[in-house]
Amino acid sequence: MSEQRDQRHQHFETLAIHAGQEPDEATGAVVTPIYQVSTYKQDGVGGLRGGYEYSRSANPTRTALEENLAALDGGRRGLAFASGLAAEDCLLRTLLTPGDHVVIPNDAYGGTFRLFAKVAERWGVEWSVADTSDPEAVRAELRPRTKAIWVETPSNPLLGISDIAALAGIAREAGARLVVDNTFASPYLQQPLALGADVVVYSTTKYMGGHSDVVGGALVVGDDALGEELAYHQNAMGAVAGPFDAWLVMRGIKTLAIRMDRHSANATRVAELLTAHPKVTQVYYPGLPQHPGHEVAAKQMRSFGGMVSFRVAGGEQAAVDVCDRAKLFTLGESLGGVESLIEHPGRMTHASTAGSALEVPADLVRLSVGIESIDDLLADLTQALG
Ligand SMILES: *Cc1c(COP(=O)(O)O)cnc(C)c1O
Repeated sequence: MSEQRDQRHQHFETLAIHAGQEPDEATGAVVTPIYQVSTYKQDGVGGLRGGYEYSRSANPTRTALEENLAALDGGRRGLAFASGLAAEDCLLRTLLTPGDHVVIPNDAYGGTFRLFAKVAERWGVEWSVADTSDPEAVRAELRPRTKAIWVETPSNPLLGISDIAALAGIAREAGARLVVDNTFASPYLQQPLALGADVVVYSTTKYMGGHSDVVGGALVVGDDALGEELAYHQNAMGAVAGPFDAWLVMRGIKTLAIRMDRHSANATRVAELLTAHPKVTQVYYPGLPQHPGHEVAAKQMRSFGGMVSFRVAGGEQAAVDVCDRAKLFTLGESLGGVESLIEHPGRMTHASTAGSALEVPADLVRLSVGIESIDDLLADLTQALG
């Protein structure tokens, strides 16, 4: 307990490396070991040594990650899952019962949309879509049984910005919970709980892991009772992060701050190059002063992150051609790794939104700007644009 109190005075970079990571008591190992174990010896029936009995319920490597996640977001409880969508599913089934309603953003990760539209809806959960960058548009969608307002900021793939503090006020008045998917920003760039959100969602596959070598998800909450309910459902449904995956995410988090600084710096340069390029008709990056969410982003983010989207003159085929010509930017889905990626959302990550209110422009290209040399990245984009 006293150790936890001390942590509150530590800065993000220190917590990232130390929170939840006290040297292993048995060996002194400086790094939390991978406890690749399913069950634990009991000292007499029910006599648990470290509180561990079975690794779906709790595992020491996962616990270290979960404590770390809670500390980084200034939360009371962190929970680690097998994927971002597993975390979202656990949250949905904890917060909602049939007939309940959720407001979801008109620009969201395709899999989040699919989870609501194709899965949760079959269980009687109602949803409607709003432009969450406009708090009044969100208020207009509220219903008597609205239990949650769901936002992604910055959003995927159009980098829209939602005002977390304003939406928290609307949610509070409506008796609903504000859920923020903070995957694009990471807790280093943005702290949703401090801005009034109730739940923070992560795909740790992305910036938290940071090396394109693990799939994982997380929830962080500022309320003990909700944390308990989520932990109950996490164990009851079972989509937990395995020990090796938890360890990889922890390893990634240790360098999160310096990686995000570089991602943001490189993405700023990329956005400037694209803005000046004759073959680019529009650039989406919240760091650009002309971005409609720039002011809100500047207020609630430390810097603007590593994701940049843009539209290519000449339409869909021209956008696909840019993706095909890029060399250093690897053509692939996902984001948030040290290596730069390029993709065509309409045909790849967001194909599931076709024909819906979340459909993305056909001439859109999305970049996950990595931490390579900025000169090499700019040269590759210049040749790919032709
Ligand atoms: C990738 C992603 C998810 C889903 O996470 P998985 O780890 O792929 O299940 C959710 N939200 C956002 C913003 C994402 O980028």
